Amino acid sequence: MSETTPHWLTKRADLSPNKKAIEFEDGSSITYLELFHRSQSYAKKLAKLGLQKGDHIAILSTNSVEMIQAVYACSYLGTVVVLLNTKLTLNELNQQLLDSDAKMIISSGSFKSKEFAIQQINYRDLESVSEKQIGITLNEEICLDDIFTMMYTSGTTGFPKAVQQTYGNHWWSATSSVLNLGLHENDKWLIPLPLFHVSGLSTMLKSVIYGMPIYVLEKFDVEKVHDAIMNRNVTIVSVVTVMVQRLVKRLGNNHYPNCFRCMLLGGGPAPKSLLEEAKKRNIPVFQSYGMTETSSQIVTLTPEEALNKIGSSGKPLFPAQLKIDHNKTEPNQIGEIMVKGPMVTKGYYKRTETNKEVFENNWLHTGDMGYLDEQGYLYVVDRRNDLIISGGENIYPSEIENVLVQIDGIEEAGVKGIPNEEWGMVPAAFIVCSKPIDMKVINTHLEKYLAKYKHPKEIHVINELPRNATNKLVRHRLGK
Ligand code: ATP
Ligand code: MG
Repeated sequence: MSETTPHWLTKRADLSPNKKAIEFEDGSSITYLELFHRSQSYAKKLAKLGLQKGDHIAILSTNSVEMIQAVYACSYLGTVVVLLNTKLTLNELNQQLLDSDAKMIISSGSFKSKEFAIQQINYRDLESVSEKQIGITLNEEICLDDIFTMMYTSGTTGFPKAVQQTYGNHWWSATSSVLNLGLHENDKWLIPLPLFHVSGLSTMLKSVIYGMPIYVLEKFDVEKVHDAIMNRNVTIVSVVTVMVQRLVKRLGNNHYPNCFRCMLLGGGPAPKSLLEEAKKRNIPVFQSYGMTETSSQIVTLTPEEALNKIGSSGKPLFPAQLKIDHNKTEPNQIGEIMVKGPMVTKGYYKRTETNKEVFENNWLHTGDMGYLDEQGYLYVVDRRNDLIISGGENIYPSEIENVLVQIDGIEEAGVKGIPNEEWGMVPAAFIVCSKPIDMKVINTHLEKYLAKYKHPKEIHVINELPRNATNKLVRHRLGK
């Protein structure tokens, strides 16, 4: 029999009814008891609309209290929540709605006019549904093996796949994180990332599991995040690289208050130069490694190491394991990163073949390349699919990109392999510049920092890099 726990929100509303659960940018906030009542009310309304246990319900929304209520409402009904990225086109949304077998889509008002392939309801319409006279019993318990959410991967390397995340996956993700970061009495976690991504959603769940207030922004805004850290007693914030870049610039020569203890960085690679810049300003950046499939971070630096192990993503969290898929025993040897742990998904929805390929005795092949140093700290190198094999040598595009962006005037760089008769593949670079740059300057810099075989054989200046709805660089679309 699978494990159950009391419903997390019901339990929290009982333990800390009047404690602040969520703060919003307009200064308003709600308590756990209010969140509990509102979520139960939404659950009854959804039941009235005919939704029931086992149904899939899609949510398309920017961050809001209604979105949080809708997610918890689904958990009270036992329906699976499919979280959709608001930046997707109508076509992409419809593909995911159909692929995920969603029965209904709940959205915020701004997405109302879209022509969805399935029945739609927005928050305002939902408010007006009566919740009376239905004989529905809401879940009092959570079964940890049940699927709670489905989230599509970013589609950086191919077609997005729906990752199924159980309650147990989320539970272990939240508890693993707190075993690493600890929980301070004054903790308040800021969410400037979308709740439809695992980074945002996992923090929303931590709020209820830990009894810790969260401060939710509708979307990232450098001024608002800066203000929240400086003036609103935020102690932890989850960010991606581009946000750190902008926050460091915004901070200038100033310092964050002492109560601010963690800038949790995830979702993609971060240039070492940026991490050093942050260290100089005493910003407590904790690099982490994770993916939708691991229900958020699975590898993170500890508070003690955050400023001393720059460039590393840390060690696997307490209940997690990590290995590099090669037969070498010496450290610093690059291979595919494999992970295992109770926060790792059981598989992609309706992708039997892919599931067979990526899982091996409960170990997940992540598709990322990396190595462990002498002390077992992980360094993520690049994605396996983006590796360029040139004349038998392995070339990692991110290494070249990192060298290029160090040049004054190169804002962003993307590198991919192109066919070459002599070498098989060679790297080609695509750069976005803030001012005209002499190719001689670039070549001198490359000579200094990169072995000759890694030098891009073509360098194209372009206006912007191809990015997906998660703002990640899609290398296979470079030059197309
Ligand atoms: P898709 O799987 O559809 O191609 P995606 O992998 O970009 O999309 P996500 O789950 O959003 O989808 O992102 C997880 C990926 O982000 C990881 O597999 C890894 O490639 C990258 N990533 C996460 N953390 C780090 C890190 N610390 N350093 C380098 N890359 C990272
Ligand atoms: Mg992926």
